[in-house]
Amino acid sequence: FELERLGVHESVEAVFPPAELAASLSNLPTEVAVIGDDEIPRYDAVVTLEHREAFLEVEWVHSIQAGVDRFPFDEFEDHDVILTNSTGIHDRTVGETVAGYLLMFARRLHAHVANQRERRWTRPEWDEAFTLPGSTACVVGTGTLGRGVAETLGGLGVRVTGVRRSGDPVPGFDEIDTTDRLLEAIADAEFVIVTVPLTDETHHLFDAEAFDAMRDDAYFVNVARGSVVDEPALIDALEGDALAGAALDVFEAEPLPEDSPLWGMDEVIISPHCAAYTRDYFRDIGDIVRENVDRLAAGEEFHNRVV
Ligand code: NDP
Repeated sequence: FELERLGVHESVEAVFPPAELAASLSNLPTEVAVIGDDEIPRYDAVVTLEHREAFLEVEWVHSIQAGVDRFPFDEFEDHDVILTNSTGIHDRTVGETVAGYLLMFARRLHAHVANQRERRWTRPEWDEAFTLPGSTACVVGTGTLGRGVAETLGGLGVRVTGVRRSGDPVPGFDEIDTTDRLLEAIADAEFVIVTVPLTDETHHLFDAEAFDAMRDDAYFVNVARGSVVDEPALIDALEGDALAGAALDVFEAEPLPEDSPLWGMDEVIISPHCAAYTRDYFRDIGDIVRENVDRLAAGEEFHNRVV
């Protein structure tokens, strides 16, 4: 198709200013503008966070997220709409966020911040704090996120194992298991970190049985998607001391409802789905979009094509 007009949909505002991305793409040989819902039909391609029904009439939709579970693949296919995603860029950001969670738990930093809010000079018990070297983290999902997590944690002396469907080895991982051995793979880890896409296969992959299989002193980290986890089962495990704690960036309902018991738990760290945030986000997205504009011009297959 002929790319004459490329729109940056205003929904990306939740992650970065749309105008920054539009400006960084202004030297493309195509018209680029920030657009709202009404303008979608006049554009050939859209870069977006959210889905809109009107996208079924454009030629190409680029998701600024790696996870594209919010888009209706079948309808895109029926309408010959190309969908590309933003996998490949969130390795260091999410890796550092996860390293931060682990360091907070190990060094008790979350407890210090909570105490500071109350102007309370309270030291941890003598046996609460620990260091990371020698501990094991099992990372479920060994793509861009999983590899970034493995590299960052590896640098902190953590032994990292992985779970993926194929079981093929991945650089940075000491050991790889297949998904059908998930319960065995997570059984001995001090940290279990979820980095899989949300699909029919991974929906509620972490349920009561999985939390049961984990050590009582293990910490659970979810930076993937809320529905990979059966949230009530996680809450039960945390309330029943079947887990030491959890760091959660994503939830079954977002924003996390005010009445969720997770908000009040001392050993739960909550971040509002921003594990991959960086002031460079719009540049990384711009690079992927530019690459695909070049490929389109050269008649080559799109990079990161999903549909
Ligand atoms: P990738 O496509 O690079 O990696 C996905 C990995 O998951 C692959 O290694 C794949 O390996 C593995 N996988 C897929 N299905 C299964 C399964 N059933 N069991 C075990 N492993 C599986 O994606 P990214 O790493 O870029 O992103 C992963 C997800 O993380 C996104 O889909 C998104 O939902 C979420 N995300 C969250 C962010 C946040 O802000 N919190 C930011 C970015 C992403 P194999 O093929 O061998 O199974």
